Formats: sequence, structure tokens, C-alpha cells
Amino acid sequence: MKYDYLIVGAGLFGATFAQKAKEAGKRVLVIDKRNHVGGNIYTEEVEGIQVHKYGAHIFHTNDRRVWEYVNRFAEFNRYTNSPMANYHGELYSLPFNMLTFNKMWGVVTPDEAKAKIEEQRKASGIEDPQNLEEQAISLVGTDIYEKLINGYTQKQWGRPCRELPAFIIKRLPVRFTYDNNYFNALYQGIPTEGYTAMVEKMLEGVEVRLGVDYLENRDTYSKIAAKTVYTGALDAYFDYCYGPLNYRSIRFETEVLDTENYQGNAVINYTDSETPYTRIIEHKHFVFGTQPKTVISREYSQEWTLGIEPYYPINDEPNNALCEKYKTLAQKEENVIFGGRLGQYRYYDMDAVILSALDAAEKEFE
Ligand code: UDP
Repeated sequence: MKYDYLIVGAGLFGATFAQKAKEAGKRVLVIDKRNHVGGNIYTEEVEGIQVHKYGAHIFHTNDRRVWEYVNRFAEFNRYTNSPMANYHGELYSLPFNMLTFNKMWGVVTPDEAKAKIEEQRKASGIEDPQNLEEQAISLVGTDIYEKLINGYTQKQWGRPCRELPAFIIKRLPVRFTYDNNYFNALYQGIPTEGYTAMVEKMLEGVEVRLGVDYLENRDTYSKIAAKTVYTGALDAYFDYCYGPLNYRSIRFETEVLDTENYQGNAVINYTDSETPYTRIIEHKHFVFGTQPKTVISREYSQEWTLGIEPYYPINDEPNNALCEKYKTLAQKEENVIFGGRLGQYRYYDMDAVILSALDAAEKEFE
């Protein structure tokens, strides 16, 4: 066999594993069906601006090991995510913090904000939240739920909030301070040269073949290495034998505008249900760009069907149950490691993907 490891997918899991494998002296081949590396964190330069082609990715982590690891391959800036919510032209600060509460209710102190939320929670009668709607109302009350959560979430997931798991909304901090940092993470930033350059650096010295679909060339590639690291879709690997897992997909409408500053912030969420897109990203603001033009992307959330890009796994009960069946099959695959968002069907943040790849590599090489 020519290689120790065949790595299917040049996204963050694949690139991290490949980098570690190479460092450990292994013979590695990375293949990807796309014609570029980076997976969904891929960035492409347009008008001198790094455009996040598959959606905005803001790096944040509490894990020092991960932070030090990524800083080996890129310089990170001090970007702090503080998206704004636009509800019919009213602008609110995110995540939910004292600035949001002040704008919503005119309250000034944390005690006043807490009292308002408690009053609304009591009126709703929710004691033990069972779904996203109940969880949201018990965290921030009905006004914020109606204006900033309900419409956005329904557009994002294509399902009513009552049918979605509570954990999704727990991703967002609720703060009784005037702090609009979207993340609670200790470390945060954007690679100044873009994610593509970072992944290319991780893959330095590793053989990479692009435009190669593993599943269509299984005969050739399954015999090329002693072990395979597979980061494609878990259900696709098994030929959808139990039926496909569901995902949400995104369609981006990207435009170059002949203006220096379109919306004054990198991320503005449109939280009403009438606006057809969920958010507008203005890419230059991630790196404090001063170019004369700007590039924006409107994000339209859509149901995934076979043949379009899968983005978010839908971790509701039927899909989780189906996923367990595929995972049982995966455990029986000798010499195959399933990793990453698609390989594990997990709503993964970038740092958690890296951590799981570092752990997988450690298990293999140490
Ligand atoms: N969310 C919301 N309103 C917002 C932003 C987020 O209701 O303005 C909810 C929505 O349900 C979303 C979840 O919070 O799916 C998690 O948001 P996050 O920003 O973590 O999503 P991601 O960046 O992964 O798309």
C-alpha cells in the first residue's frame, strides 16, 4: 500500500488529521471532491476581500491547545463577533444582553431586566422547557422570543420552534451586562489572510488531489491506504441504506457593491418572518477592510435535498435515531475513522472539530 492514511475531505477535520499524520512521519494522501481545500471554511478573494464562500466562520474557543494550534498556521486578528438583529427596521444588539433589554423595554439595571423576563416567563406558565420555544421564552421572555427568535429560527430551520430541540438556543449567551460579544470564548478572531491560506499551510508537504469523489472511486481509493479517514456524509458512505439523514442547506446571493460600507457591521440578522433571508454578511468587516468596494452575501436557508450542499445537521429525534443506526454500521468498519460535521452528523463549531481531530490523531500516533 502506497499510503498509511487516505483522508477523504480537505476540511478542518481532514486538514488537522493530515497535518498531525505528516508530523508523525506517516504517508498521507488527502482527496476532496471539490476543486479547493478548506471544506466549508473556504474563503475566496473578491475585490481584495476574503469572502466566506460557504457562510461566515468566526473562530472562537476556550481551549488553549486549539488556539495555539491554529495560531501555528495563521495570524488571527482581534475581531469580536457582535451581530445586530434587524426586526422591521428596529435594531437590537446580540446576543441577548443589557443593550438588547434596554432597547426592548427601556430597562436600565440588570435587576429590572431580570424582573421583566421573570414576569413574562410566569405569564407563559413554562416551568420545565421541552423545546426551543419554551426554552427561549424561559430564558428571555415573550417579547424577545417574538421579535428576535421566532421568525429567525423558523426561517433558519424550516420548522416551528416547538418542534426544535432546546439546545440550539442555548448556543447563545444571555448576559445581564452591557457586553455584546456573541461568544463566551476566551479566544476569538479571524485569520487575517483568510481560512484558505490557513488550511493550505496546514497541508504544506501533504499530497492533495482535488476534484476526486471518493464514493465514485471507491474501488481505487479504498485499497490505496492502510487506513481511511472519512469526513464526507455518514449516510452517503453507506449508500443511504436506511434512508437519508436530513440537513438544512443554505443558498448564498453574493454581490459586489460599489460602496465602501454597506451595513456597518459584519453580520446583521433579519429576525422577522417576512424577509426571505436570515442574515446579510458584509465580509470586509471581519478583517476591518478599507477597500473602496464591498462584498455582501444574503443567506437563504433551505431544506436539503440530494445533490445540493448539506450544511446543518438536524438533530431532532427522528434524525438522531437514524444517525445511531448509521453509527452502528460505522463502528463495524475496520480501519475507517469517521470525523467532522458530516462524518459524525454533528452541529460542530470549528474548535470542536479541531479538538476531535487532534484527539483522533493522538489515539493513532501516540
Ligand atoms: N437565533 C435566533 N435569532 C438570532 C440568532 C440566532 O433566534 O438573531 C437562534 C436560532 O435558532 C439559531 C440559534 O439561535 O439557529 C443558534 O444561532 P447561531 O448563531 O449559533 O447559529 P450559526 O451561527 O451556527 O448559524
